[in-house]
Amino acid sequence: MCHLTSRYNRHVTLSSSKPKTGPKLAKRTPEIEAIDALFSIAGLTRNRRGKPAGITRQLRMERAMPQELQKPAPEPRVAANGLPFIAVPAWGKMPWLWHGFSTRKGGVSRAYCADDAPGELNLGFTAADDRENVTRNRRLFAEAITGSPDTPLVALRQVHSNVVVVAGAADALRERPRKGDGVMTAEPGILLAVQTADCIPVLVADRKRRVVAAFHAGWRGTVKRIVETGIGRMRFEFGSRPEDLVAAIGPGIGACCYAVGDEVLSIFESQFSYARLLFREVYDSDPVRTRYPMLFLTQRAPGHSPIGPSLHVDLIEANRRQLLDAGLKASAISVVGGCTSCQRELFFSHRASRGHAGRMMSVIGIRPR
Ligand SMILES: [Zn+2]
Repeated sequence: MCHLTSRYNRHVTLSSSKPKTGPKLAKRTPEIEAIDALFSIAGLTRNRRGKPAGITRQLRMERAMPQELQKPAPEPRVAANGLPFIAVPAWGKMPWLWHGFSTRKGGVSRAYCADDAPGELNLGFTAADDRENVTRNRRLFAEAITGSPDTPLVALRQVHSNVVVVAGAADALRERPRKGDGVMTAEPGILLAVQTADCIPVLVADRKRRVVAAFHAGWRGTVKRIVETGIGRMRFEFGSRPEDLVAAIGPGIGACCYAVGDEVLSIFESQFSYARLLFREVYDSDPVRTRYPMLFLTQRAPGHSPIGPSLHVDLIEANRRQLLDAGLKASAISVVGGCTSCQRELFFSHRASRGHAGRMMSVIGIRPR
């Protein structure tokens, strides 16, 4: 293979250093064709036509337009204290359970909105926001879900890992939250929270043993199988049986918007047999770009075309598959809907606001008897 690779590289270097004599150098010898065939088996293709030397992955995904991949969020419900939040319709029949997904609406934060806009519900202690406002927002949200602003709220210092912690009320009093991306408890009267602004929140409840869990899954955590690991931990710690579990995948960045580089595909392929089913080639439907493509040619970043297809990953489906692999029934999994990047009036989006964003919270807890 080393021999083949070095021959191959020599060819590419030649063709890229003398692009004007392209037709002559583009001549494909049987040897080169044999090499290309080998690359093709591995899903790779040789770069041509003035692109930098090297190889890239062949995009042979299903194609889609962004709007085909959108799943809008349900209408938020309004709590007794006036705060809107999103609930899982199928979970209404479990009165023992507290749960909800926040939006950016309501609250007292002014860090991420226009001067004349009403306050917003940033629930993360971000650098741009006042700690006091975030604390007030957290109390408002706890009150919306449980009826009391004093309900202890356990949040994590999230690090895109597969670390899961078992929490109790004492964790709500910590000055520095525990590090991890999953949290679970069997203790009634506390709310477990994960914070997101594009990443995928996943809530899980054990209907028989009354155990609850919350997970934070960005692409890195998804690759590390945070949700699958977390359910394994529920089985280990509490004896939860997968058939007794229900799960809800909350709002996050959708496949409509989540463009990623080829390296993300490679990493997913190294971990999941179904990886290619999670990716789509998505075409930009911007009418100005479609009509005047020449205007945008100079904005090309290396290796990325704003006009042609870009690779999008569906983290919601990725996490749904992890829930299935962990033994949950498909009918026990609710996908709430909503894209943080498309629905910016409703959600904070880290990507859509170039890093200047508040955080939403997804919470779950056991109502005390
Ligand atoms: Zn979207």
